[in-house]
Amino acid sequence: MVQAARWLRLPPEHPFNLAALPYGSYTAASHANVCRVGVAVGDHVLDLTTATSRLLPARAHLFQSGSLDDFLAAGDLAWAQVRDSLTSWLSDDQYRPAIEDLLVPAAAVRLRLPFTVADFVDFYTSENHAANAGRMFRPGAAPLPANWKHLPVGYHGRAGSVVVSGTAVRRPCGQSRPPGADVPTFGPSTRLDFEAELGFVVGAHSELGEPVPVSRFAEHVFGVCLVNDWSARDIQSFETVPLGPFLGKSFGTTISSWVLPLAALEHARLRPPSADARLQGYLTETANWGLDIDLEIRLNGSVISRPPYATMYWSPAQMLAHLTVNGAAVRTGDLYASGTVSGPEPGQRGSLLELGWNGTEPVSLPDGTSRSWLQDGDEVTITATAPGPDGVRIGLGSAAGTILPAVREVPAGRS
Ligand code: CA
Repeated sequence: MVQAARWLRLPPEHPFNLAALPYGSYTAASHANVCRVGVAVGDHVLDLTTATSRLLPARAHLFQSGSLDDFLAAGDLAWAQVRDSLTSWLSDDQYRPAIEDLLVPAAAVRLRLPFTVADFVDFYTSENHAANAGRMFRPGAAPLPANWKHLPVGYHGRAGSVVVSGTAVRRPCGQSRPPGADVPTFGPSTRLDFEAELGFVVGAHSELGEPVPVSRFAEHVFGVCLVNDWSARDIQSFETVPLGPFLGKSFGTTISSWVLPLAALEHARLRPPSADARLQGYLTETANWGLDIDLEIRLNGSVISRPPYATMYWSPAQMLAHLTVNGAAVRTGDLYASGTVSGPEPGQRGSLLELGWNGTEPVSLPDGTSRSWLQDGDEVTITATAPGPDGVRIGLGSAAGTILPAVREVPAGRS
């Protein structure tokens, strides 16, 4: 592993060590609150917008807007060049005079949505999660739907509702049908949940009509972030038949402030679990894009689950191949998420639905309370780490959000 310059005082065990170098967007009072692109370096944020104008002027235009959008669109050669440059600047003492004044304490910046979210897709690629849902909602039937091992199941979600970590999420109102009732009622969701997921951020676009093969995943996908797909289970269960998730999911989706480039995950790559069914050729995983990433979920500060991403059945390269096999194009800023990450053990489940087994086994918290579903004021924080070089671990930051009470006064239509 490349050693950080000594003047940085950056211990290798810090999750934002030199092997991580995730990108984000921020404002700081010290920068007149002008939006900049930043890189997390230990407990500081490096002003990459200014650093490139000083040290890499040929790429500086990619960071002028303060968002990652132009950098994402620039493609894999630009991604590699900027990462190589950052590594040099932060490891070689000769660059200290040029960058030392560009390191801002992380506590002094406000992190923003790092890129403009184009399309949002959510998959369903954890076998444990899908089987748990099947056992709860289709008892006596096969836990997995007939299609599940033949293709990565997914749906198109709502990009405009994606918010950055730290944004409060309001409890949605909607229609749901209480158990045993014939007709639905309207009101605040009483079964509000989280889903801990990994998100994949598309950089370089593809052309309409041209599928993206598994082998070209890393040319199009720039990196990963953490995702909380907030879910109102009562609204979801009444509306989903027959067209799938709608208002029970679209009221808010939280992503982490930092996007970790795929280049940081070389040591986390692994072969996904063997396919049990004979796959169509376009889904053959040839490049081993399974990922050994350990997630952790906290509810009001207490760890309630540790889902292992390594157990996911479909890889993100297979997801992208499936997403585009009909000729659908991907665009810069597209975000597609893995679906809830759940491991085989009870303490590895990625949603309250599973941790509390649909309300029948409430989750106990250290303060003596328990949860079947989220309460107003609850804070959910998802964090994750992955193996880096030489035994270090690298961080993905966090995706956090607090539940606000519902707005009960929904305007009635005039008759
Ligand atoms: Ca989901």
